[in-house]
Amino acid sequence: MSLIETASNLFTICLDEHIQYMNPAGLALLEVEDPQDVLGKVFVDFIHADYKEFLSFGLEVLAEEDDFIPLKLLTVDGKALDVRLLINEIEIEGQCAYIVEVQNITEYKRASEAVRDREHRLKSILNTVTEGIMTFDVNGVIQTFNPAAEKIFGVSAQSVTGKHIEVLMDAEYRDSYKKFLERKVFTGVTRLLGKPWELIGHNEHNGRFPLEMTLTKLQVGNELIYTAVFRDITERKQSEERIRHMAHHDTLTGLPNRHLFTDRLNHAAKVANRYNKALVLMFVDLDKFKPINDTLGHEAGDVVLQTVAKRFRKIVRESDTVARIGGDEFVILLEELDSSDDGLLVAEKLLESLEIPIPAGGRECTLGASIGVARFPEDAMDSDELLRCADEAMYAVKSSGRNGFKVYEPNLSVLG
Ligand code: GH3
Ligand code: MG
Repeated sequence: MSLIETASNLFTICLDEHIQYMNPAGLALLEVEDPQDVLGKVFVDFIHADYKEFLSFGLEVLAEEDDFIPLKLLTVDGKALDVRLLINEIEIEGQCAYIVEVQNITEYKRASEAVRDREHRLKSILNTVTEGIMTFDVNGVIQTFNPAAEKIFGVSAQSVTGKHIEVLMDAEYRDSYKKFLERKVFTGVTRLLGKPWELIGHNEHNGRFPLEMTLTKLQVGNELIYTAVFRDITERKQSEERIRHMAHHDTLTGLPNRHLFTDRLNHAAKVANRYNKALVLMFVDLDKFKPINDTLGHEAGDVVLQTVAKRFRKIVRESDTVARIGGDEFVILLEELDSSDDGLLVAEKLLESLEIPIPAGGRECTLGASIGVARFPEDAMDSDELLRCADEAMYAVKSSGRNGFKVYEPNLSVLG
């Protein structure tokens, strides 16, 4: 009995279901101040109502169990305790008795519920975040894949777990990404970890798409795993592209603006210089455009400018540049010419394209253009000079009656 007296678990001896003895640990557990309050009571009365039915067969049935049974006990004040209980049948003076051992697992249960709760919360976070999150091992084998990742790549977690991350890569980039991972990530070069990279992924339904990914390394026990957090950046890329386009293009006609044109001209002059190629630059200013605005309105004028832009664009090759650099001023750069004389034919075609009336503001508008032509390298050896020559030639056309073209020659303005 002395062992039972000092035990930390509750021990009670029941005879005919009634409590005959309860050790100090048991009295403390049930918060009993006077042992007389429990002695002679039916043990089952200390069992929570939820389990009463189960015990209605008496302690005899439970004594058949070899293992601890989890249930709830009540203190004398009716407070529920999570416990596990083991019942053994014994014989006392020829009578059948039961020795009941009760272990308090309230704390243990609370702790494991807290762990479960935390796991559940973490899982809910992983399941609801908009970022894709996956983990893979040092061989690149995918271990976990959250719902956002499923959406981003258009595949189910089930179909990719256990597979190499290459299944998520766009075919064109697969080899270089794999080499990169093997050389720079799996070798432990930590410099690359924790920083966002832009990559091209493969979505099962929509094909390639840009994504931003941040990799981190995690030591879990003996295992090293990588966590990748990523998001689809298609929209961000599109808006960056839109902004870039707006900065380089004229919003009315969609043609390159002066800024982009200057870049292209500078670049073309360098290339032509290096490969001994000719360039032709045409400066076009529409004739009597202002009266269209004045008589039919600014909107009709806009329609005319848009139509002229389309017609000019159709005449030149894809690789040539048609830009709008001012109100009714267009510049056309012809590249990769064997001879600059080839450009003169284009000037004629530009004028011809304007002979067809342009419907705008409920009327058919007809207008001409004055075109100044400058050739590289004959007339000028650099882009600024080429533009100046073309401009001068255009003014010569304006002052000699409009609607025509002139090739630059020195003293043109004097010749008029
Ligand atoms: P010229 O024959 O001497 O070239 O005279 P013009 O009437 O064509 O007039 P000019 O080239 O001197 O001026 C171009 C006009 O284009 C001035 C301006 O009112 C008009 N303009 C400039 N930008 C726009 C635009 O975006 N939309 C419209 N509708 N008109 C514009
Ligand atoms: Mg004009």
